[in-house]
Amino acid sequence: MSHAHYIAGEWLVGSASAPNLNPSNLADVVGEYALGDATHVDAAVTAARAAFPAWSTSGVQLRADALDKIGSEILARGEELGRLLAREEGKTLPEAMGEATRAGQIFKFFAGECLRLAGETLPSVRPGIGVDITREPLGVIGLITPWNFPIAIPAWKIAPALAYGNCVVIKPADLVPGCAWALAEIISRSGIPPGVFNLVMGQGRSVGEALVNHPGVDGISFTGSQGVGQRIAATCVAQHKKVQLEMGGKNPQVVLDDADLKQAVELCAQSAFFSTGQRCTASSRLIVTQGIYPAFIEALQARVAALKVDNALMAGTDIGPVVSEAQLAQDLSYVAIAQSEGGTLLCGGQRLQRETEGFYMAPALITDTTPGMRINREEVFGPVASVIRVKDYEEALAVANDTPSGLSAGIATSSLKHASHFKRHAQVGMVMVNLPTAGVDYHVPFGGRKGSSYGAREQGRYAAEFFTTVKTAYTLA
Ligand code: NAP
Repeated sequence: MSHAHYIAGEWLVGSASAPNLNPSNLADVVGEYALGDATHVDAAVTAARAAFPAWSTSGVQLRADALDKIGSEILARGEELGRLLAREEGKTLPEAMGEATRAGQIFKFFAGECLRLAGETLPSVRPGIGVDITREPLGVIGLITPWNFPIAIPAWKIAPALAYGNCVVIKPADLVPGCAWALAEIISRSGIPPGVFNLVMGQGRSVGEALVNHPGVDGISFTGSQGVGQRIAATCVAQHKKVQLEMGGKNPQVVLDDADLKQAVELCAQSAFFSTGQRCTASSRLIVTQGIYPAFIEALQARVAALKVDNALMAGTDIGPVVSEAQLAQDLSYVAIAQSEGGTLLCGGQRLQRETEGFYMAPALITDTTPGMRINREEVFGPVASVIRVKDYEEALAVANDTPSGLSAGIATSSLKHASHFKRHAQVGMVMVNLPTAGVDYHVPFGGRKGSSYGAREQGRYAAEFFTTVKTAYTLA
């Protein structure tokens, strides 16, 4: 029996379904999940539209209580959800449990934010008139999410959407329906009225496109690749829908001569390879100044070679499998591309066999690369990092900014002057000083610049920018 869609407060099984496999162990079937189509999307959007008038005008206490309840249950079931996530996506157990905890905290945070949505009252330039500026819910919102944070990213879209009085239809990534289904199951018991929250599982080119194109949808919040994001944005603009895109990066991690060597090596290893490099914030370009370069490379190579790649559910695993066969093929092909461009493969870069059959890959470190190579311009989204050697801080900053993306950037340095300059001049949405580029708080804005993001920021109270619309009202006193 397959896991069903959740539409209008009911569990609906369609005619199609597909099994979902554990990338650490292909013999392990995580579950069978329904595959939807445009008719499911239409039913879900219709239900959301019908639920919107009551939900958008409901007292905020109802919303706050429901979100708080969802957050509490996610936190209470963190270990179980973490195991599901590790099994479905291949994130190591500690990382997966951390992600589940973060999802619970996000719901708790927005339970509080329900009570804090503020407007403004301003004086009019005309006598005897009052001006009120209020925020109203946007309407019915389509949420389209990627596979690499299958609990946290749905959570950071669903929670603010519901907190601010919207109704939603979520389409999770085809590779990871299980985590979204588990979230939906928790939400279905939270007291939220039927139709306010809907889940339709299925493929991007059917369910995703139907959701983006549906006339009953007022806005789309998307996280995923730049190619898909650009197409969604074009459709939304043509149809006058509000759109928010969080996309990929080619994030730089700068290491200066005055960095603490041990700290720099550890944060580069974590930024580039933890979560199997499958983070939008992963540092895939390590930009290293020439004084520290030889010692840094020697120490980093030793650290990377010591990382334990194995089953995500096994204690002691540093790096789980790549998520899919297709992603593994892409990762390996970029190693070959880098070598054909003149890069030197220092370690890793090959498929690994383990006790269970899965998509294991040895983390690849590639030196002798230059900024113009494809390996330094295109997102790989796997355990592959390239190293660029530069003369000094000024060159490092120029190389760091020489990319069409702008999500996150890190710097390892003991110089306050360089750290301050980098914070101001890195052309990204998030800067890390002596910290890995991965690892972010759940209550502060998340997002980037240039090709990495479009529209309002996600997370924290900045989420209100996308999930509400502003109304200005003039009153004759
Ligand atoms: P993706 O291929 O772009 O897919 C993202 C979502 O869009 C999936 O649910 C996908 O469905 C759906 N989709 C695909 N084609 C569509 C279409 N034509 N219309 C509507 N929806 C469509 O990305 P991914 O491989 O899942 O995720 C990896 C990417 O996400 C990387 O580029 C990464 O950097 C980025 N990412 C960014 C952030 C951030 O916050 N900046 C965070 C995490 C990940 P299917 O699964 O069925 O294809």
